[in-house]
Amino acid sequence: MMMYGSVERDNLPATEKPKVSDDSIEIVDVGAEKPEITADPIENAVSEAAPANGLSKRQRKKLLKLADWEEKKKVKRLKEREKYKQKRLDAIANGLPTRIGPSRKALKKNRMDDSKNPFTVAVDLDFDDLMIDKDICKCAKQLLWVYTINRKSAMPLHLHYTGLKTGGRIFNALQRNDGYTNWDIKITEDSYLNVFKTEQIVYLTSDSDNVLTELDSNAVYIIGGLVDHNHHKGISLRRAEERGLRTARLPLSEHISIKTRTVLTIVHVFDILLKVSQGQSWQDALIEVLPSRKGAKPLDRSDESVEER
Ligand code: SAH
Repeated sequence: MMMYGSVERDNLPATEKPKVSDDSIEIVDVGAEKPEITADPIENAVSEAAPANGLSKRQRKKLLKLADWEEKKKVKRLKEREKYKQKRLDAIANGLPTRIGPSRKALKKNRMDDSKNPFTVAVDLDFDDLMIDKDICKCAKQLLWVYTINRKSAMPLHLHYTGLKTGGRIFNALQRNDGYTNWDIKITEDSYLNVFKTEQIVYLTSDSDNVLTELDSNAVYIIGGLVDHNHHKGISLRRAEERGLRTARLPLSEHISIKTRTVLTIVHVFDILLKVSQGQSWQDALIEVLPSRKGAKPLDRSDESVEER
């Protein structure tokens, strides 16, 4: 299955910054909120309703919560739209610019195929079986987020999602986000191994001994589509080595004060690559993308030379 298509622009998710939590720089929530537990009305609805369609009380409760959450999400989006309109009107009234960066209209015309960005990145979605339900959900949200930041960028990377099994768990999670089949991205059920030449492939993994120093327009950089809190330690490297592929890690400790083999999330890796592909330095990209509470500070070059002596 190869899907190409244009984006239904209204389906672009809201531009909230991913919220980041715990120590493994884990993205908890990307662009969407968790259903709020409004126990009472749901509890009541569940107890009042007759046992329907052979669903258990728990399953019905879950469905009602989901419906309730989706309703709330719609209201929230409407409010956001209103707020945005008001902000715009205020700016016009005060003679201020209404936006920075390219307009929505310009972005709509932006097509990945026309992008001047010479680099290619693929997310390998062949990890369906290695994630618990909650992480499947987080992974799908990250895929949505990756798509959004690329789509909104002035010079998007050539982005592929490969190995998306029809009817699989990631597939089903993405299906909940209607409109994704219209995304301006290459999504395929095929493995990246069938889409790209072996010589092109560089599998990114924090466990590699090779350090990525500059991007190569002939290469394809693969990010493992896995959210596992590093439960499956070293799996990307193992798989890549079994397949005889080149591997590389991001140059973290070379530019900032952070552990060499820090495992980042899919979104962080992608965002760093996107920034570097557009000419930003590794150091600036790393500082901008990684949460400062991880101690991601620029390396003090003078300290470094003292240590070397
Ligand atoms: N336990 C998993 C971690 C997955 S993190 C593993 O061992 O692979 C999700 C993906 O992000 C990885 O597959 C890898 O492609 C990418 N990634 C995370 N941190 C990275 C780093 N420091 N350098 C390069 N790629 C990284």
